[in-house]
Parts: sequence; structure tokens; C-alpha cells
Amino acid sequence: MPFDLSARLAERHAAHLYRQRPLLESPQGVRVVVDGQALLSFCSNDYLGLASHPQLREALIEGVRRWGVGGGASHLVAGHSAAHHALEEALAEFTGRPRALLLSTGYMANLAAVTALVGQGDTVLQDRLNHASLLDAGLLSGARFSRYLHNDVDSLGKRLSRAEGNTLVVTDGVFSMDGDLAELPALCAMAGNHNAWVMVDDAHGFGCLGRNGGGIVEHFGLGIEQVPVLVGTLGKAFGSAGAFVAGSEALIETLIQFARPYIYTTSQPPAVACASLRSLQLLREEGWRRQHLQQLIVRLRAGVSELGLSLMDSPTPIQPIVLGSSERALQLSAALRRRGLLVGAIRPPTVPRGTARLRVTLSAEHQLEDIDRLLQALADSIKELPEVTND
Ligand code: PMP
Repeated sequence: MPFDLSARLAERHAAHLYRQRPLLESPQGVRVVVDGQALLSFCSNDYLGLASHPQLREALIEGVRRWGVGGGASHLVAGHSAAHHALEEALAEFTGRPRALLLSTGYMANLAAVTALVGQGDTVLQDRLNHASLLDAGLLSGARFSRYLHNDVDSLGKRLSRAEGNTLVVTDGVFSMDGDLAELPALCAMAGNHNAWVMVDDAHGFGCLGRNGGGIVEHFGLGIEQVPVLVGTLGKAFGSAGAFVAGSEALIETLIQFARPYIYTTSQPPAVACASLRSLQLLREEGWRRQHLQQLIVRLRAGVSELGLSLMDSPTPIQPIVLGSSERALQLSAALRRRGLLVGAIRPPTVPRGTARLRVTLSAEHQLEDIDRLLQALADSIKELPEVTND
């Protein structure tokens, strides 16, 4: 039967892969109300605790007073306001790149950068665990597309030696479901040996990593020569919305001329750019947020290891606890929820089969006692789980 949607949905249910959208009834933060229940949340990407910060709210409201609400048109028509422009200039300065281009979402920034840089006759090489938006961008580009083994420089090298045309190596900076870092120095050196360019999507590192929050490139001290295409998003550590691509003058002009996901869409509300600009200030002034996050990460990792649960090699606020089967991940997530804790279960196809997990994410808004509460709840919940089943 054509379009047998019910059968497709039922199949997903039976495989424990059905996705639900929790209904948030409070502002974003670590203490939330979801589906009517007050919960301590460990599942937002608001890593620095800025999404509901009074100064960000104020900046947004002031932005609305000054600029109104809608962007009104695409950037190339009449939608590029001085508010967007000021943010671009500040981001360029912050990332140490000549220019930055603001886009409405990270998904679009990735589509824009990849499709403007490579096409038929070119090659795009990506880490197997890259974010879905990068994989989609690779497919959309029409370039020869191959995925190398996760963080594996030899696997990349083999593909580079067979590459044709302009070659773009694309990697997440921090892998969104594992929390580990791209081996950027080695990947960049290998790409450089083959005259390939490196593009890094630092959605989860920007604002969190590096002494000043400059992300993975600051963490490893890599400049524009090693990473000519840098993508950062503003909806996670920045607590706002949108994304940017930073690089050379020629790169940004190329995107403005050729990137269809940039050209054919309405600019983001200018007031949102005002809020992001304030985030950037806070990020620079309040280094304690990053330091506090580090303390939380250390406490959580020590406690989870003591419980005998399986962590990944992550130095970031993304701390997955791998359980294997989707059913088990769901059961543990539900058991935590009964104890007042919100932790998302991540299942295939978002992660490889057999690696379903709880994705614990930390925020600078958490207190050490919140971590202890999570550890106690994990200890109590595991005891309740039935025998292990296969995925
Ligand atoms: N890249 C990565 C690695 C991400 O995790 C995400 C969002 N989850 C995006 C890009 C997309 O960013 P946005 O949410 O701004 O579209």
C-alpha cells in the first residue's frame, strides 16, 4: 500500500525507537517544568546557563524595541540590518578570522558552507560520526562523498589519496552524541599534505572550550591556515539562536554569492542578533562559567565510574552513559524521570546500533549537589532495571 504511514510508525514503536517531544512549560534552564512535572534537567545544550539570563532577555527586548520583530527579507534583499552586521564583526574579531557570516541556524550554516565550496567533480570527506546536517550537506553538494572512520587519520589519508577536485575535510569539533574532541591537529596536518581544506563544525565546543571560550580551534591553537572554514552555533553555549561561518574575506564573499541556504531565506530577527552579541560579552566577562563546568564534569565522571557504568572519552559537558539496547536506555531514562530528573535517551539511528545511551549534558547553572542527586538517582534506578535484552 502506498504511503502506509501507520505501518511505518508502528514499526518504529515496536523497535523502541519512537521519538517523543517533551513539552517544556518553563523557561530553559536546569530546573524545568516538563509535561506538568518539575524536573532537574540534564538534557539541554545551554552549557553556560545563558538561555534565560536576565541580560540576554533584556538585550532581546531592547533589540525588539529598536528593530521590531521580523527580519523582513533575505540578507541580499533588504534584511541585513546593522544589528546582524555588528554581530558578524564581533564574531570575526572573537574568532580571529577576517570575516564572519551570520545564518539563522547551524543546520543551514553547514548546508551553506559545504554546498558553496564543493560540487560535482570535487570531494567531501567526513567523519562517520558527524552531525546529520553535515552528512545532509555532503549529499546535497553533489561532490563525491565518503566517510572516514571516526577520528581516524589513516582512514582519512587513504581517502585523501584517491580524492579528486577541490577536497573538503569536514568534522564536528566536539562530537554531539559522544562528547569527544576531533583530533584536529593530526587531521589538519593530513589534510594539508593533500592540499585539502578543513571545515570544523564547532557547535558544541564554541563558548565551552578554550581559555576564552573560542572553542576547539582555541583549545588546540589552530589558525585560519589549518582551519579555513569554522562554523559555530549560537543556540547552545550562547543561549541564543543562529550560527556563523568564519574565515577569509574570499570565503565569506563566496558564501554570500553562491550559498543557496543563505541567499534564499529570511534573515533571523535582528533582536536575536542583539541577544547573541550580549552573550558574547558575558562569555568573555564570566570565565567562571567554564571553570565551574569543568568541576561538574570531573565530579560526574568520577561518580559514574564508581557506579560501574560506561562513560565515553569526553572532556566536555556532553557525558553519555552507554547502555547498549534502546529498551534499556528508555527504561533508565524513565526511572530517572520518576525520581524527578530529566535525562534524554538517545537511540539509533541517531547513534550506531547497540550503543543506545543516556546523554547527560551539564550546564554552568548546575550545582555540585545537582550532580550528587543525579548520581544517587542513577544508583537507585539501575537496581530497578530488568535483565539486559538485545537491541
Ligand atoms: N552541528 C551540530 C554538531 C549540532 O549538534 C547541531 C544541533 N544539534 C547543529 C549543527 C545544528 O545547529 P542548529 O541547532 O543551530 O541548527
